[in-house]
Amino acid sequence: MEIITSVREMQALARKWRQGGKSIGFVPTMGYLHEGHLTLMRKARTENEITVASIFVNPLQFGVGEDYEEYPRDLERDAPLAEAAGVDYLFVPTVREMYPRGYQTFVEVTEVTRGLCGASRPGHFRGVTTVVMKLFNIVKPDRAYFGWKDAQQVQVIRRMVEDLNLDVEIIPVPIVREADGLALSSRNVYLEPEERKAALVLSRSLKRAEELVAQGERQPEVIKEQVKQMIEAEPLAQIDYVELVALPDLTPLEQLQGQALLALAVRIGKTRLIDNTVLEVEG
Ligand code: AMP
Repeated sequence: MEIITSVREMQALARKWRQGGKSIGFVPTMGYLHEGHLTLMRKARTENEITVASIFVNPLQFGVGEDYEEYPRDLERDAPLAEAAGVDYLFVPTVREMYPRGYQTFVEVTEVTRGLCGASRPGHFRGVTTVVMKLFNIVKPDRAYFGWKDAQQVQVIRRMVEDLNLDVEIIPVPIVREADGLALSSRNVYLEPEERKAALVLSRSLKRAEELVAQGERQPEVIKEQVKQMIEAEPLAQIDYVELVALPDLTPLEQLQGQALLALAVRIGKTRLIDNTVLEVEG
């Protein structure tokens, strides 16, 4: 595996692969790799001739007072993990390389970024779409892999790809969880042992919602209320949002029908965690 830090060098390689008819799979990440990231990389590996992953903690997608400075970074730990997962090229640019002096261009997706994490993290998705657009132009992937852990992000990126006619296929990958249900996240390292236990309330409350739907519950308000009550019963947990919205547009729902996304953001101590499940009702 080769580590590339220069935009020009990465672009030149990608141009050469494209011209040679080689398919490129791409996995953008912020690093501190875990099994979720590695699952995306292994999938990219099986479906493409060249696999590129990036590690870039994108300052543009962090709000004031968020954890940009504290976000875990460890390339010496990450590089061998990426290599073992089948990554051929690891793109690791600096902030200055991605946003040189004078930078002033941004990509904004509107409606689908308004709710959920878009509402509680103003500017977040503008940062995400801008960096992903740049990374697509640098890496020129045929396929790009995104985890369903960030379900709204998947919908936002899909919207951008469709609206801007980008020539890349977006491949969503299911959430990878610990054996006890906690969704893997680089931010889980922030959790103290007591908080780690409390964090299970996210996946447990999603399971409870799935059971309610299996028992015939169809009212979004009832499902959301049950989930909220479960989370509120956990003393270390504080709800940021609990939302049940239609897929793929993330619009409000009167009645559960077709595919709906139940998405949570919950603060456990100082750590903000997200999780979600798709609730599906036939007919
Ligand atoms: P991040 O480094 O947090 O920006 O994540 C990079 C990519 O990995 C994103 O597409 C995430 O959705 C995905 N990802 C993160 N955690 C998980 C997980 N537990 N399961 C599946 N994909 C994940």
